[in-house]
Amino acid sequence: MNETLHIETFSGRSQKLQACIHCGLCLEACPTYLETGEEMSSPRGRIYLMKALEEGRIEATDEAFIAHQDSCLVCRSCETACPSGVQFGILMEQTREIITNTAKPNWLHRFIYTKLLGSPKLVRALQYPLGIASKSRFARLCEKTFQLKTPLLLSKEGVGGWLSPLISSLQLLPDNIPFPKERPLIYPTGTKKRGSVGLLIGCIGDLFTSHINDATIKVLNQLGYDVHTIPKISCCGALASHSGFGEQARELGLNVIAALESSPVDYYISNIAGCGAMLKDYSKLFEGTPNYERALNVRKKIRDISEFLLEFDKDNILQMNLALPEKTLIGYQAPCHLYHGQQIKDAPLELLQLIRNAEVFPFEENDICCGSAGMYNIEHPVMGEALLERKMTIIEKQEPDIIATANAGCLMQLAKGVRETKSNAKILHVIEILAEAIES
Ligand code: SF4
Ligand code: SF4
Repeated sequence: MNETLHIETFSGRSQKLQACIHCGLCLEACPTYLETGEEMSSPRGRIYLMKALEEGRIEATDEAFIAHQDSCLVCRSCETACPSGVQFGILMEQTREIITNTAKPNWLHRFIYTKLLGSPKLVRALQYPLGIASKSRFARLCEKTFQLKTPLLLSKEGVGGWLSPLISSLQLLPDNIPFPKERPLIYPTGTKKRGSVGLLIGCIGDLFTSHINDATIKVLNQLGYDVHTIPKISCCGALASHSGFGEQARELGLNVIAALESSPVDYYISNIAGCGAMLKDYSKLFEGTPNYERALNVRKKIRDISEFLLEFDKDNILQMNLALPEKTLIGYQAPCHLYHGQQIKDAPLELLQLIRNAEVFPFEENDICCGSAGMYNIEHPVMGEALLERKMTIIEKQEPDIIATANAGCLMQLAKGVRETKSNAKILHVIEILAEAIES
């Protein structure tokens, strides 16, 4: 594909780049800048390089250019900090798409983003070998192996190019992943019906953390909602989009939009911050295309679970008089794609505060990425680990009984941190704490 033509297909990219006034107010909000102190690993530095590409002063194949764009977490913390409203997330995703279309990606990336994530059957099939790996504690062996930090495991070249991501991904596996279960199309409420919602069960999310979906269904059913699981839905395209596979992301996005349009529900619910942000941002992905209006319609009906419950069910939850069995200190770590991507900052905290015996607080720096960031901790294990260590140092200081978060990837990354620090804290999704309080 012609690189210049391709840039022109990104509606309004030049204006989006020009919005940056180089003030530097985003620097201290950027995790990779905080770790490295390097200007080119900051939002301002990366935008400077994007402008250089736009103006033809640098090639998309330039190794240093690729490395600095590649090391970004796409956490969008810089968007929250920016006084000029720079839309950094979409600029970065477009930049990566230009790189992917110019410098050929390796076979593993091509397979994951163009084949695996587009096939729910292939994703489901993975659950058998991964289930065996997690039940046999092979995953924990990988964790110990990775801690050796041998040059081969840290290398992106040769054998390291596939061995490093393989070991990095296996070490994140939770213990005892259940074998696949077919979900029914509808979970009817057992109480007086108040509405119907469609739950995005996720692709990889339902593979590794199906307990989050179980808890979400339980709470919604209890509140009077029929929960539809939406047939024929594929991956939402978030992982492909973050990694520069824009064509695949748009293809996956269109599948999801079609599946949602045919689902007879009042709202679509997401409990995975990255997927929710992606669905809300389809309008950016399809800007300037005939599917823009369809994307905007999805935007009107999609809610994160915490946002939905606070908007429609706060009084009902209060009437349920939820309580935990004993006083419990709950620290909250915000997923970047909820806090920055969707600008939902307080809803999970407010929801937890409705539970008796829950003492809820946000962790210091809870708006800074834990190093998970989609596939980042697999592709960039060294930076992913450095950010996790920073996070766990703060968490340990605040001694929570429960670490609460609202995204499957963060949950798995923090679970790794808890294993490494031998902390006694439990890690739960906010909705799981609510479900637990219903049971108590
Ligand atoms: S991205 Fe925003 S905050 Fe950062 S340098 Fe540019 S204008 Fe300033
Ligand atoms: S998205 Fe996150 S890692 Fe990337 S430049 Fe912005 S703050 Fe830094």
